[in-house]
Amino acid sequence: MELKELKGIGSKTLASLRDLGINSIDDLVRFYPFRYNVYKPINLNNLTSNETVTIIGKVVSKVSFFRGNKVSNIIRFSFETCNRIINVTIFNQPYLSKQLYINKELTLVGKYDEINNIFTVSKVINEKLDHTLIEGVYHVGTNIKKGVLVNLINEALNQYDIKEVIPDYINNQYELISLKKALSIIHNPTNNNDYKKALLKLKYEELFVFMFKINLLKIRKELSESFVIKDISDDMLNEVKSLIPFNLTNGQNEALKDIINDFKKLRRMNRLVLGDVGSGKTIVAFLSLILNSKCGYQGTMIAPTEVLAQQHFNNFVNIFKDLNIKVSLLTGSTSLNEKKQIYKDLRNGNIDILIGTHAILEDNVIFENLGLVVTDEQHRFGVNQRNSLRNKGKHVDVLYMSATPIPRTYALTIYGDMDISIIKDKPSNRKKIKTYKYDFSHMNDVMNIVNNELNNKHQVYMVAPLIEDEESDLNDLNNIKDTISKYLDKNIKVGILHGKLKNIEKDKIINDFKEGITDILISTTVIEVGVDVANATCMVIFNAERFGLSTLHQLRGRVGRNDLESKCILLSDKDSERLDCLVKSNDGFYISEMDLKLRGSGDLFGIRQHGDMEFKIANLVQDNKILLQTKKDSEEFIKNNIENNFINYPYFKAIVEYLINND
Ligand code: ADP
Ligand code: MG
Repeated sequence: MELKELKGIGSKTLASLRDLGINSIDDLVRFYPFRYNVYKPINLNNLTSNETVTIIGKVVSKVSFFRGNKVSNIIRFSFETCNRIINVTIFNQPYLSKQLYINKELTLVGKYDEINNIFTVSKVINEKLDHTLIEGVYHVGTNIKKGVLVNLINEALNQYDIKEVIPDYINNQYELISLKKALSIIHNPTNNNDYKKALLKLKYEELFVFMFKINLLKIRKELSESFVIKDISDDMLNEVKSLIPFNLTNGQNEALKDIINDFKKLRRMNRLVLGDVGSGKTIVAFLSLILNSKCGYQGTMIAPTEVLAQQHFNNFVNIFKDLNIKVSLLTGSTSLNEKKQIYKDLRNGNIDILIGTHAILEDNVIFENLGLVVTDEQHRFGVNQRNSLRNKGKHVDVLYMSATPIPRTYALTIYGDMDISIIKDKPSNRKKIKTYKYDFSHMNDVMNIVNNELNNKHQVYMVAPLIEDEESDLNDLNNIKDTISKYLDKNIKVGILHGKLKNIEKDKIINDFKEGITDILISTTVIEVGVDVANATCMVIFNAERFGLSTLHQLRGRVGRNDLESKCILLSDKDSERLDCLVKSNDGFYISEMDLKLRGSGDLFGIRQHGDMEFKIANLVQDNKILLQTKKDSEEFIKNNIENNFINYPYFKAIVEYLINND
């Protein structure tokens, strides 16, 4: 069945779905809610704080409708709930006035102002709920209405014959519920118990397919032989090393040794270098590229963003200008003429090393004899892409760089098809970031530290744990500004940055901070990506307990970017082993290990975490146990079915064919 066969779907809706990445019925039913709204009716008499609540009752007065200008309409009426009468106000939903009348029974969601007896409505549910209503929240964007999407999903769930992916014997073994049932629960959960079963099924399935691919790649790797040897002499190595303005750390030297050993072997290299942010992976990549080029092969390095590619290129040229090596930069913004010249020079071998972005993956990029591909920040690439990279040449070695610190045993599972080098140490000139935990009653002390930094002409980040799609963003950031301004000198300038700003606005705010026009930047976690301000020496994280350990570690990495001593302050009223762990350690690997140990099963009905490999529903860290199980199960599944080419399992047969065709 195809998408366009669904009832009431037109070309406009199809286009909107495509924008959301939904191209098939299967994509549609697997477009999961990213969280849920739970509406549980309460008795207003028991209300203790000013939070959003759900109440049920009936309209007991005439409904009055005030038409203001275009953007302000007000509906007012009296409402009886749990034997009391309250005044209800609804802003800007004029169409509701027709549906409301005396004695109409309703459910209202909103906030209650006890003093004035006014209930301000944010959502009207057109019936009196007699149960808890759980409603999926979807990332729908602006071009399709949520209601339309939900109807289509439910329509598809009813009409479409959803085929099991997981082999029956495994479903039986773990008593997994049917895929159809799991999908229907994930979109319309009614209770926690069912929801857990649905999650288990969908997570198991996703991880099983993932591990199936990894294990298959591993088998193919063991079979694939390259017939070239790159023989690197010690002299060659030392000559290149002598150009670097610092000494390599032990970890860097070890990683390089692993790579050179791979070069010497009669086998393609497929190696992952894992190292925390700032551990110095780039120079290892550069040295590998140069050695590869000294053996007569071209090399290329792909970075996920233009800024990063440009930075790598500048660095390379800077450090190795005296080497007789021709290096070029290719990104999306390279001019057409330049591109043409680069394509030509690559084909005739005039370029030795090409640094760039995804633009390198395009078909027009053809090398004369490519010998090494380096992928920076590899976690941005999926399993399917891993193999396609090396198709640019006959005997291509592949090297990946990743800053996602994960424990070794764990890395061996999810990167089971690669060899791994881990850089554990950091360059010795780096100052440790001192981390402190304070509760809010010590705001005074915290602001003393902040003022101290400001007096030394340093800058400060303040980070708040907000969900980007909540409307309260700006309010909460402004609250922080109000709170801290009591402690600040009048001429201290504060910038506010959040995800909902337009890109131009964001750039301006970040730039003002970079240039020192603002002294303090209050921000949501958007600063995790791409803000690099060396003069910022202090970070204050509000309600730190609400962030994951790894996120906190990444955030903290925004300071300590020079030889100044930097501080990170975790503000939290909760005692937490996780926060203690950050106070104790700066080591990303230790922290990720602790993260695994300390994290329980995760919050149900909470916000789905984004896995570092873009899983739809599973999380590599939280679902560690399921992951290890699927590793075993998929190995056995492959062993028993590879001989007859998965003839009984068309889904997996297709994956095998895809991987073969792309190798
Ligand atoms: P990452 O591993 O996060 O990619 P980079 O390779 O960007 O880290 O290195 C971070 C910084 O450390 C760079 O400015 C780099 O020049 C510097 N650096 C790398 N290795 C060393 C070293 N052994 N000694 C001193 N500085 C180093
Ligand atoms: Mg890097």
